Amino acid sequence: MYRTHNCGELCKKDLGKEVILSGWIQKKRNLGSLCFIDIRDYFGITQLIFSKKLVNEKFPLVEKEFLIKIKGKVVERSSVNYNIPTGKIEVLVSKLEILNSSLPIPFTIENKTDGNEKIRMIYRYLDIRRNPMKNNLIIRHLISLETRNFLSKNGFLEIETPILINPTPEGARSFIVPYRKNIRKYYALAQSPQLFKQLLMIGGIDKYFQIAKCFRDEDSRSNRQIEFTQIDCEMSFVEVNDILFFFENFIKHLFKKIKNIQLESFPCISYDDSIKIYGTDSPDIRFGMPFIELTDLVQKKNISFLKEQKSVIGMKCHNQINISKLKEIKCGNVFWIKNSLNKMLFSSNPDLFNNKIVKIFISFFQTNPGDCLFISYGEEQESREKLKKIRSEIINFLNSENTKIFKPIWIKDLPLFEWDTKYKKYKSVHHPFTCPKEEDIHFLEKYPEKIKSKSYDLIINGVEIGSGSIRIHKKSIQNLIFKHLGLSKNEIESKFGFFIEALEYGTPPHGGIAFGLDRLISILEGNNDIKNFIAFPKNNYGKDMMTKAPSYLE
Ligand code: ASP
Repeated sequence: MYRTHNCGELCKKDLGKEVILSGWIQKKRNLGSLCFIDIRDYFGITQLIFSKKLVNEKFPLVEKEFLIKIKGKVVERSSVNYNIPTGKIEVLVSKLEILNSSLPIPFTIENKTDGNEKIRMIYRYLDIRRNPMKNNLIIRHLISLETRNFLSKNGFLEIETPILINPTPEGARSFIVPYRKNIRKYYALAQSPQLFKQLLMIGGIDKYFQIAKCFRDEDSRSNRQIEFTQIDCEMSFVEVNDILFFFENFIKHLFKKIKNIQLESFPCISYDDSIKIYGTDSPDIRFGMPFIELTDLVQKKNISFLKEQKSVIGMKCHNQINISKLKEIKCGNVFWIKNSLNKMLFSSNPDLFNNKIVKIFISFFQTNPGDCLFISYGEEQESREKLKKIRSEIINFLNSENTKIFKPIWIKDLPLFEWDTKYKKYKSVHHPFTCPKEEDIHFLEKYPEKIKSKSYDLIINGVEIGSGSIRIHKKSIQNLIFKHLGLSKNEIESKFGFFIEALEYGTPPHGGIAFGLDRLISILEGNNDIKNFIAFPKNNYGKDMMTKAPSYLE
């Protein structure tokens, strides 16, 4: 028998009990007359105290991370540790057995570690012994569990789809796997279950979900891994609003269950408005700061110099920021005005803007003491780009103190196509199965870039957490889209023939969405490195530091 209790459960009500515990040695302290070991398992830490005899015999034999089994009596602890649930007791050890020894540890296995990311990835199993990593995996488990419960309760069926498939056109590079029986043939690893989930709708499965592994051969970053997990969903007989409504509730449910946070209603704006108001399609709306058009104002108020500019836009920041730390404001075509806390007005260009002009902006923006205005000018795109950079610099400053505020927003009506400058042809913004908005289809021949799609992204604190669309369910439109993506009749037939044919068997209108599970957790936990929420992640070069994959094959 390895244990009567675990290392996280003994408390005052157990005083006097004879117990057996097994665990790893986290700390060993020899204070001369008194000797202690902190023993740790999945459940917690218990302090052990040793008699002189045992100390002399066993203490020199054990080191940190040795796995030991002890027998002893629960006694009251003289110096209580209020930080741990077992802090009021300790176990007076009568017998110690070494279950397994340990090599000297490469980094401290405690909440705060001295190990850098590389060493922690090489010895991931040791890193997972630390509470922060273990807790990340617990959170991940809870989110997956809640997802399964919520979606199942709402009529979704969890179905696995294949991983070894033909390439899916999600816009990334595929990983390929040789086919043993014909050296010229390959599988691709699924970039997403996209086609299969649509086929499930054709198969009459009303609502599907899957916590699906996806593979995309792209450069890794802090919020991107080549192998990642999606909460992938699809529903039949729905339009955009049905999906937004349902999945807004799903996300609210997760935040409430996991974090006890009640999210407010998610605003929903079009892609075009998002670019206009925030300069980006993935806006962080926690701190406000929408862009305000000032071109008319500067004309009306006859503000010299600015009135000659094609575009003048501004934004107001309520939060306290150190303007001198913003790099972008030093790069020209922008100025700032500060309404200081003691109501003094300052501007970056006092020689250009006299007090009268400064006051025009101050009153137009209805600033309060402490507010700061940023005004950029120049060509339309340039001025917006400039203000966007300043906005994101400010957000980066404010972010670290505001990781517990969550402001999701839906961005819908994304363009259907974008021009691929490398291959000189149109490509899908989302994927080729996304349904165009009916009223825009007439642009197809002449102005494909003007077509908007029935698509939507969920952005939380500036990070894309989910993305989806209503799908094309008519063969004629699907063929037309393929044609505009530059696929020949033969290519359409050989790559998607089966799918086009399937569309002809009474395909229902359908749509769906996929959420990045790793990203969702990292946002919830206020830590933007998704590696921390994946048990065995790859590094930013796509390598597994522990197993050394990928490797040469014999
Ligand atoms: N398959 C899409 C993606 O991976 C999601 C969707 O359209 O449902 O982004």
